[in-house]
Amino acid sequence: MISENFIKVKSCILDAAKRVGRDPASVKLLAVTKEQSDMTVAKGVKAGMTCFGENKVQEASDKIDILGRNRLEWHFIGRLQKNKVKFIFDLFDLIHSVDSFPLAEAIHKKAQKTGYCMPILLQVNISGEKSKLGIDPLDLPKEIPKFAKLEGVKISGLMTIPPYSLNPENSRPYFARLRELRDACSELGIPGMELGELSMGMSNDYEVAIEEGATLVRVGTGLFGPRPSIKKSQLVE
Ligand SMILES: *Cc1c(COP(=O)(O)O)cnc(C)c1O
Repeated sequence: MISENFIKVKSCILDAAKRVGRDPASVKLLAVTKEQSDMTVAKGVKAGMTCFGENKVQEASDKIDILGRNRLEWHFIGRLQKNKVKFIFDLFDLIHSVDSFPLAEAIHKKAQKTGYCMPILLQVNISGEKSKLGIDPLDLPKEIPKFAKLEGVKISGLMTIPPYSLNPENSRPYFARLRELRDACSELGIPGMELGELSMGMSNDYEVAIEEGATLVRVGTGLFGPRPSIKKSQLVE
């Protein structure tokens, strides 16, 4: 089941990239394993997945203890509290969800103590929804030079989560805006800053995201089926 889903998602990634003349190798599939057991993650590894996304530091740490970082990449995609920053260096290869300057600064400070530079993406709240985290897209071009000065973080790109919709076409304008914003920030020509990555697209809309330039797609239910919390809420209904 998981391996069939994996094959199907990979082939959809290939098709989406081809439709717009992109190299399929420029798109990385992040398997989102939040709420899934380490057994399920192990099945994913067996199927050939190498790159995993988690949204809670403790949960990720438990899984990484069991599955290790050898040959596997672990990305953090959730809300990162400042008091958890000290743990991320031993766990994650990339933080997708840096949503404020103070958070970037906190990572920078801890990183500097060890001489490390943590790769991060800046989460942008393109939709402006109050419930969503992220930097205001209007502020980003003037704020980004400030982020770029933090030596303990390497800003590798941008991330966004559009409003949920059953119709993936509704996500397209948000993805296009993130790409345009990335291009505008790149044109500022800040030394040492390359915004190569665009983390956008989830199970319902990753194909559209790839058409709009995504380099990292974050797919959970499309690979592993409904999460336990989703099942539970459906049972209650
Ligand atoms: C849960 C989550 C995903 C995966 O969502 P699916 O709809 O299950 O693919 C992707 N990105 C973020 C930030 C998430 O929290």
